[in-house]
Amino acid sequence: MKAIYPRDVPQSVPLFRREDSKGRMEYRPRYQDLVCRECGKLDELVALSRGIDEDISFSIIRDMCLSFENLYIVSDRLRYIVTEIKGSDVTFVPFPSAPGYYVIMPHCLIRPQEGDTAFRLLRKCGECGRYGEIIWGKGVPHIMISAPLGAVCLESSLGIMPILFATDEVARLLKNTRPKLNGFILAPLGRPPGLPELPIPGG
Ligand SMILES: [Zn+2]
Repeated sequence: MKAIYPRDVPQSVPLFRREDSKGRMEYRPRYQDLVCRECGKLDELVALSRGIDEDISFSIIRDMCLSFENLYIVSDRLRYIVTEIKGSDVTFVPFPSAPGYYVIMPHCLIRPQEGDTAFRLLRKCGECGRYGEIIWGKGVPHIMISAPLGAVCLESSLGIMPILFATDEVARLLKNTRPKLNGFILAPLGRPPGLPELPIPGG
């Protein structure tokens, strides 16, 4: 398995949020009922199933980039490559006002569990049960799946932070895409190379 890590990618496109009159990011009205009143996180998967607002437009030349919320956005070219992969089980959510681009979300989602040394799970919400943050730990993740493409669901303060991963064969295929996946690196799943272990916030 190889992870597809964003390394040098601008996170520019907010999907679920917009700026309010004071320049602060707020959730868009169509998703506000999906926000946890305790921790303020949004149920992103349900939000995606509702679609993306029509006033969101952007132009990028990459085949893959990240949303403001750390979700992966892919081009038509990459979507075509992924849909051609046998057994790929992936949702592509289109941008009504940015034709040819999609949020990609695999159906095979790995949810880190307490006690797994590959992850550190911080600040569980008493209301919705989500964690404030899920980051890489010291251990090596053991992921046994048969899907060619999936995602490990880390968490940041902005919400779900999926890390796409693929079998070695599929990773090679994606790497050979032209133009290449600029700004992304393929690496063994786990704490990315060069990333120092993060201190636990607040102690
Ligand atoms: Zn919550």
